[in-house]
Amino acid sequence: MDNCIFCKIAHHEIPGKIVYEDDLCMAFLDLSQTTDGHTLVVPKQHFSNILEVDHQTLSHMMEVVQKVALQIQENLHAKGFNMITNMNEVAGQTVPHFHIHIIPRYQSNDGFQATYHDRSQEVDLDGIYQKIMKSE
Ligand code: 5GP
Ligand code: ZN
Repeated sequence: MDNCIFCKIAHHEIPGKIVYEDDLCMAFLDLSQTTDGHTLVVPKQHFSNILEVDHQTLSHMMEVVQKVALQIQENLHAKGFNMITNMNEVAGQTVPHFHIHIIPRYQSNDGFQATYHDRSQEVDLDGIYQKIMKSE
């Protein structure tokens, strides 16, 4: 897609620190390096987000996420990972080309936070469940 930064990296039109590449996808270092080895896995074809991408590409990308994470674990000695995809602006997506973040973790207080607030006392769990499960 024109003017898409990740399409340009995926098609070698602009440089990236590419750690994995095949016909369907590519993994390259995120410029921000939230933690050392912060990597993005992207499909070569332009899809906006995880709900748009085809199943074959999506499942292949998850294999690549695992492969690259193993490499980071071995070579950078990461102790754990957060694998994240942000979908749409409301969820913090800034580049509208589907990507999965691989965020290596070396210590819990490294500044990266994925916080899940406990709202269990405020919500109607059964009501939410019924809404999700209702047939259209
Ligand atoms: P999002 O916020 O959409 O989930 O993540 C976008 C990520 O892309 C950010 O972490 C940002 O640092 C990274 N990024 C943005 N522009 C570039 C770029 O030109 N090259 C690389 N390697 N990463 C980029
Ligand atoms: Zn794109």
